[in-house]
Amino acid sequence: MRPREILQSLSQPSPSKIVLLVMDGLGGLPREPGGRTELETARRPNMNALARTASLGLIDMVGSGITPGSGAGHLALFGYDPIEHQIGRGVLSALGIGMDVSAQDVCIRGNFCTLAEDGTIADRRAGRIPTAEAARLCEILGSAIPHIEDAQVAVVPEKEYRFVLRFRGPGLDGRVADTDPQKEGRRPLKAAAEVPEAKKTARLADIFAALAGQALKGRKPANGVLLRGFDTYPKIATLRELYGLNAACVGTYPMYRGLAKLVGMEVLTTSEEEDFATLARVLREAWPTFDYFFIHVKKTDSYGEDGNFEKKVEVIERVDAALVPAIVELGPGVLAIAGDHSTPAVVKGHSWHPVPLLLSSPFCRGGESEYGETACARGALGRFPAVELMSHLLAHSGRLAKFGA
Ligand SMILES: [Zn+2]
Repeated sequence: MRPREILQSLSQPSPSKIVLLVMDGLGGLPREPGGRTELETARRPNMNALARTASLGLIDMVGSGITPGSGAGHLALFGYDPIEHQIGRGVLSALGIGMDVSAQDVCIRGNFCTLAEDGTIADRRAGRIPTAEAARLCEILGSAIPHIEDAQVAVVPEKEYRFVLRFRGPGLDGRVADTDPQKEGRRPLKAAAEVPEAKKTARLADIFAALAGQALKGRKPANGVLLRGFDTYPKIATLRELYGLNAACVGTYPMYRGLAKLVGMEVLTTSEEEDFATLARVLREAWPTFDYFFIHVKKTDSYGEDGNFEKKVEVIERVDAALVPAIVELGPGVLAIAGDHSTPAVVKGHSWHPVPLLLSSPFCRGGESEYGETACARGALGRFPAVELMSHLLAHSGRLAKFGA
């Protein structure tokens, strides 16, 4: 029996509610050796108050030294082995924008791009055109290319220059390499099937790119498309099926909402832009209805990626002031605060560093005076794989029966 099956067999109902607050890319690094990280720099009286009675630890999202993507990081936080469940961005994005996805589909992430006259890529993001403009272009593509061969085509805007392309039909397979060469000055690549079964999908992708080029001809700045993250819909047992959890997602950004939906969470309506007061209100209103809440904050990661240490600190401070007290006030049985990976401002990207975890419940050993990477390295939970976080959450909320006689 594997660990998750044991968990599943031990799980039992409980009135205690679980909250998982994820600050995306939370883990950080000091600007100078021996200094304080973003989290440690932030004024965070509410998180520090929790740390005094909570258990702290460090979590490895995928494995030591491995830099995780956000999809992998979140799956681990939800208790799914991210190596066993690999999901492409195409499906995550499709789910996030509320697109209907079925087992017959291949979902692909697209970028509107600017092609130079010689066919090379002048701008991979078409000057980061606004979402409204991308929406118009998607409409143009959708009516120009309703189907290719026997596959239906759907083109839906995501955010700014990004869109999702869905092929629906028989014989499709997501194992196709990206057409985005990741560099300007090169031509878009041909879609290459990684296995013979994916040849049809690759052919459809090339036809789509050619037809899109014709439909967008002469437009500025977006006159071409790049396709990446080809993917089919994975079958994942939901949190309800596994542990009987009635789970909800409170977050603004499409991809995380999609991921939550994939594991069976109800995705609650929030505002268009990330706003902590709105997240707190949505949480409050949904409180009686669900027993597990995943709250997602994106801006920590965005500023980490920008290399903006101060702004990342500021977001953590605002979460501490606006979101943490609102959660505590509701009286969850278990509150876990973590990230889905580290995004240190000095790295300007995701990194492999383990993520600081705070787990607060009436059954913790406590003893630290603050929530930060250094305190978490000393913490009672030690350092463990993030995929095991779910068992801690279930145990602390009284949802796991005794194992063995
Ligand atoms: Zn992330």
